[in-house]
Amino acid sequence: MRCLIIHNPASGPRSDEIFDFSRALAEAGDEVVMRFIGTGMEPWDATKDVRMFDRVVVSGGDGTISNVLDCIRDSHVPVLVFPSGTANLFFNNIGNAPEAAALAKACREGRTKCVDMGELYWKDEADETHRHGFIIIAGTGFDADIMHKAEANKADMGEVAYFLSALATLQPTVAHFTIEHDGVVEELDGIGCMAGNTAVIQNEINLFPDCRMDDGLLDIAVIQPVKTVELLPTLVAGILNPVGKGLGRPQFTIIQTKEAKITCTPSLGMEFDGELIHGSSNVFGARVLPQCLDVIVDDFAKL
Ligand SMILES: [Mg+2]
Repeated sequence: MRCLIIHNPASGPRSDEIFDFSRALAEAGDEVVMRFIGTGMEPWDATKDVRMFDRVVVSGGDGTISNVLDCIRDSHVPVLVFPSGTANLFFNNIGNAPEAAALAKACREGRTKCVDMGELYWKDEADETHRHGFIIIAGTGFDADIMHKAEANKADMGEVAYFLSALATLQPTVAHFTIEHDGVVEELDGIGCMAGNTAVIQNEINLFPDCRMDDGLLDIAVIQPVKTVELLPTLVAGILNPVGKGLGRPQFTIIQTKEAKITCTPSLGMEFDGELIHGSSNVFGARVLPQCLDVIVDDFAKL
């Protein structure tokens, strides 16, 4: 078996576990290539020959995983996501057992599920169009704000930082959203608009109830202009009640679609998978890239 491991050595406190993984994986006759991304090795360089391998393992947090998967989509090489970052929401959404030895076993067995990614495109202030793939959530407003405030605390608190930072956003800006999808135009006010590919957050709560990464659809969610403090009890209730039953979600309007164009007035800033986009204008689009990843799964996976 030829296996390519792409690892971000600056990913976080679990960064060394990839070496336990490679030890558990390797057998006589194998070729295991490790590439360490960072200065001098960008995700694009590390993945150029990915089709030469039987497996590709991507090790890092959500930002690394998002960047690398954007480079290898449509290659159909079985890909194992290895959770070595501070925030590993995409790994949690797959649901594989997290131990290095269990992941090595799943990698060798190579059972896969075909899943979607999202694609975000936007114009900068000079009217130039940019694009980036995303695996979890991309959007504007509330979400970008949370991610921005969480960024400073990320190294210490990981996923919890996303929630705690909501406390710091007591008076979010209310914007007007014009959403064009499937030949209709919807006008909504809200504090944010997110496009979700998959949306399970901590303790197995699905932020958008029917959001799945294998249905060929994105979930476009507009968050109603309630105060963030009023939104918090929902999040807290979610943490206390992992099943999520009886969890009211009146704050979201959700549109399931393959593609949407969103105009946001005023512009609220943008992010994808926790990475901030600088200098974006107030118009962006999101579309699904269906069945573009062959993700390795085990018996615990939720897919
Ligand atoms: Mg979906």
